[in-house]
Amino acid sequence: MATIDNLPTLREVIETHQLAAKKSLGQNFLLDLNLTAKIARQAGDLSGSDVLEIGPGPGGLTRGLLAEGARKVLAIEKDARCAPVLEEIAETYPGQLEFIIGDALAVDPLQSLQKPIRVVANLPYNVGTELLVRWLTPKQWPPFWDSLTLMFQKEVALRIVATPGSKAYGRLALLSQWRADVQIMMELPPEAFTPPPKVHSAVVHLKMLPEPRFPANAKVLSRLTAAAFNQRRKMLRASLKGQAPDMEDRLVAAGIKPTQRAEEISLEKFCALAREVEKG
Ligand code: SAM
Repeated sequence: MATIDNLPTLREVIETHQLAAKKSLGQNFLLDLNLTAKIARQAGDLSGSDVLEIGPGPGGLTRGLLAEGARKVLAIEKDARCAPVLEEIAETYPGQLEFIIGDALAVDPLQSLQKPIRVVANLPYNVGTELLVRWLTPKQWPPFWDSLTLMFQKEVALRIVATPGSKAYGRLALLSQWRADVQIMMELPPEAFTPPPKVHSAVVHLKMLPEPRFPANAKVLSRLTAAAFNQRRKMLRASLKGQAPDMEDRLVAAGIKPTQRAEEISLEKFCALAREVEKG
């Protein structure tokens, strides 16, 4: 079968290198190179960007990113069995693919990447949300990345794009939408993967905002939204009691009724409340 490059098909790669999927590493591979190229395209024009990929596995998405013209790809993979496969891809795209065998939660990728940087990944489900939160909460804003194009379980993707009043609305929606424009680009059924996971998946694109959408102190906003959503059924006057003196007055000053619940409150109002609380 023809591929998007001159390399063997992904089925052949997996057989040759005996890459039986390991559940412990969240390995659900994409074997259709037309699909991986399509996912790569969701990140926009890659020709002028370096790409950070987490979890390349047998390299389907990596090959999609390179075929779609990424200036350079740095891939971080925990499973050392993948090294020979990634080496083969690197030889086909001289100077364009670097890889590190290591844990993405522990490796600092920035040394060998030039801006603009896009992150594109079919994330291992067990570390996906943790990485997303890290990328959204760096010490300084703007962050190192321009966009994140990430495959998640559909349920997590829905939490990222959720709006007030929905069950999925919560801290992940607020954090993501405070600092990025967010959009679900495509959905994938379990059968798209080998082996198929139990759940549906979706690709989310997050485009970094140079400034957060509304002014607020990140720590105060995070503390308030944690307290509000940890008791999401309670009225805010109860869930936020103790977060600051005269909390009910501050809620009112931010345009929020103290009897409202967390899931009814927009990002703009949470930011207004964070500013009221910061007044001391
Ligand atoms: N990108 C490939 C694809 O689309 O077919 C594989 C995706 S698979 C869902 C997730 C990949 O992440 C696996 O290759 C797994 O070994 C790797 N992985 C799991 N935990 C990791 C970690 N902490 N750091 C880096 N890679 C990890």
